[in-house]
Amino acid sequence: MANILVFVEHANGTARRASLECIGAARSTGHGVIAALAGEGAKNAAASLGKHGASKVVVLTGGKASADALARDLAKLVTDNGAKAFLAAASATGKDIAPRVAALLDSTIFSDVTGLSASGDSFTAVRPWLAGKAIATLSSTAPVFCATTRPNAFQASESGGNAEIVEVAASSDGKAVVASIAAKVGGKLDVKEAPVVVSGGRGMKAPENFKLIEDLAAAFGNAATGASRAVVDSGWRPHGEQVGQTGKTVSPQLYIAVGISGAIQHLAGMRTSKVIVAINKDAEAPIFKIADYGIVGDALEILPALTNAIRASKKG
Ligand SMILES: Cc1cc2nc3c(=O)[nH]c(=O)nc-3n(C[C@H](O)[C@H](O)[C@H](O)COP(=O)(O)OP(=O)(O)OC[C@H]3O[C@@H](n4cnc5c(N)ncnc54)[C@H](O)[C@@H]3O)c2cc1C
Repeated sequence: MANILVFVEHANGTARRASLECIGAARSTGHGVIAALAGEGAKNAAASLGKHGASKVVVLTGGKASADALARDLAKLVTDNGAKAFLAAASATGKDIAPRVAALLDSTIFSDVTGLSASGDSFTAVRPWLAGKAIATLSSTAPVFCATTRPNAFQASESGGNAEIVEVAASSDGKAVVASIAAKVGGKLDVKEAPVVVSGGRGMKAPENFKLIEDLAAAFGNAATGASRAVVDSGWRPHGEQVGQTGKTVSPQLYIAVGISGAIQHLAGMRTSKVIVAINKDAEAPIFKIADYGIVGDALEILPALTNAIRASKKG
């Protein structure tokens, strides 16, 4: 059995779900998992990783927040531990770090994979192509397989045990160092990582009606709000919520498209969702072609009823 090194992101001392899924993806190949974390709070986040399937956890201590320095440290960990693969979540950070690690290892990057398997040391990845219209199966001939895993595409494992935790000094010679971050206040779930996404489009009629989208998302409790480009361009919703070709690609367990026509550019960002529900007053809207369930009617009437039904089901 070989080892796979997984870069784990964390916030407030807790590993991010997308990284736990990444460990789950590594575990599903049958290989061992070494998790690596860096930055403030890394030690706290490290403690739970054994439970999620890591056999060893490396905490990079000290150093400065620098993508190039971190990538060098991770590439060195891959080499030092004889790992046959390197994985990171296909988050903004993962997409920044993983290609650098691949380049340092003289490998290549398999981006945003939704399936992963291994036969011995040889890895096969599955990923959507052409905005999700085709599914490509890719095999790697690189000595170290490097990939990012799409959030929500893999299961986070809960069946691990205790992991050995070791500390390694991080290098502090980054070329680009983060001096400070001014984060927006508000702990909203990111649309890329939430298991449920409720998205609104121009059919919501006015920005104030997005309160109905937010209410439905809040009723689920684990949902993020999304939007079509039409409403983002109109300034009704922030760009961070935009789903689609020029927005974010999401793959939640449940995607609810409300007042969204289903333009090809929107579908590009959500067609790999597990279950798609469309609410649209036009029975001929293209979104119904890819929806698993459809409700034809006025979203402004349907949303409050749906929200009440979800609230009632949570209570019962
Ligand atoms: C290069 C390029 C990139 C793009 N990238 C993106 C992208 O990333 N994401 C994206 O979303 N779009 C993108 N677009 C835009 C895309 O082509 C569409 O214009 C956009 O998705 C339409 O948004 P919409 O569905 O909200 O609006 P519309 O197409 O106007 O659809 C509104 C829908 O609401 C329904 N409706 C109206 N009233 C109600 C009601 N009361 N109740 C229920 N339903 C109602 C209508 O029947 C209609 O189907 C891109 C376009 C280009 C050219």
